[in-house]
Amino acid sequence: MQPNTVVTKIVNGTIVAFDGHEHCLLENGVLVYTDDTITYVGKHYQGESDRTIDATGKLIIPGQISTHAHVGIQEGSRAILDNGKPEFSRAFFLNYLPTKLNSGSTYLGSIDSTASVRYGMASLIRHGVTTVINFAPGGVQAGLMMADLATEFGLRLYAAPIVTSGSYHFDNQGRLKQSWNEAAGLKALEGVVEFVEQLTPKQKQYVTPIVTVDEAFFITPELLQRARELASRLKLRLTLHAAEQLFEFHDAIRQQGKTPIGALADAGVLDTDVILAHCIYVSGHSATGYPFGQDLEILAQSGATIAHSPTVQARRGIALESFQRYLDVGVNVALATDSYPLDMIGEMRSAAQVGKVTDQRYNVARSQDIFNASNLAGARALGRSDLGRLSVGAKADIVLIDFDNLAIGPVYDPIRSLVHLASSEMVDTVIIDGRTLLENKQLLICSEQEILQSAKKFSQEYWSTAADRHWAGETVETQFPRSLKIWEETVNETQASA
Ligand SMILES: [Zn+2]
Repeated sequence: MQPNTVVTKIVNGTIVAFDGHEHCLLENGVLVYTDDTITYVGKHYQGESDRTIDATGKLIIPGQISTHAHVGIQEGSRAILDNGKPEFSRAFFLNYLPTKLNSGSTYLGSIDSTASVRYGMASLIRHGVTTVINFAPGGVQAGLMMADLATEFGLRLYAAPIVTSGSYHFDNQGRLKQSWNEAAGLKALEGVVEFVEQLTPKQKQYVTPIVTVDEAFFITPELLQRARELASRLKLRLTLHAAEQLFEFHDAIRQQGKTPIGALADAGVLDTDVILAHCIYVSGHSATGYPFGQDLEILAQSGATIAHSPTVQARRGIALESFQRYLDVGVNVALATDSYPLDMIGEMRSAAQVGKVTDQRYNVARSQDIFNASNLAGARALGRSDLGRLSVGAKADIVLIDFDNLAIGPVYDPIRSLVHLASSEMVDTVIIDGRTLLENKQLLICSEQEILQSAKKFSQEYWSTAADRHWAGETVETQFPRSLKIWEETVNETQASA
């Protein structure tokens, strides 16, 4: 044993153990990790240990991998995004991204980006996410801030400054306008290289750069090629939003004579190192009015991954058609938390329920397939055989879930119970890289209250200045009316004088 090495033994729980091929249930097993690496999984551990975690009544699962998240945009999206506007049906968020020309931040900007990211990271860890692919912010300094925070929190982060060649805004009559700027995109790509070079050895323990292109529909062919080449040259993954917007599908057909997926494939972009966020509007999706084509076969053959966030899409009335169809063709579907809540257990339940409703069959979107999408599929997307599984040699990214409560009840099939009965509040312990970040449902690395109070404060400020960002100066209350009207007290004269 090396000096200063710490051996930790987890006993008495139900372990979801990986046997080299698939997850298995190991009742009353022992999981041992030495520093940051799992060194034993089984029933008969004979070695020594420095500390023991008693996991009685707990389910022990691999750390969850969110393959697509917007960690630092909570204040804009949280209260607002899902209200939608009919004129951009099925592409709602475009209404909130744009700002007035040359003024203020967008609805997905942050008023205090550091505080916003801290809130997002605390949320992810609190909910059992141990690895996340984050989208945005732009710029090297903002990227390094994100890397600093991931290192401080101990969260496994894939990120780099975002690359795009376009932006959109509202003119003074509320019309959506696009502007293209390839030079800015090429400069942003240089920023990715700078970001990679500036990461310190300590940051590299937690942060892996990933080439992050904002939108497939908003990048010039030249910039897309350069981004693809950069990812290959630096051996980084490449991620982008793709086929999330209905108009994107029809624009691609009109302008290129191809579906968005067909266009990406023909451009030579798709490969096993690519993660496409959402990928909803593929050939055959009922909203496209377009026949079943080869999109899913193209995706499967390329080995690219779909980052699937059913919760946010369901809020907009949109669904993948369908989880099972993608899976059956052989597409690697990995779950993702997207904007809010940053909760993979919630995503698992959404994926199961929406997947069954979409196909109108109960025996699709099975719990084991959904569960695999929360860990193994993400690990495959990242090319990491040491993540998303509890087996010897894997990273000690481990989540203990309280499985001894009324909501869970008697457990026959732990994975079905996890998908259909559990909530993120049941996450009891989170270990990343062998370091315990959450214990007894308490964050050890930061004050949950301090982060929450700060989020409330900056969100309030953000909402109160919403009119500054709206093309016609509308307040947040006008743009996004609350679900219930505010109580109005009328005081009559008798009451007033009493
Ligand atoms: Zn996104």
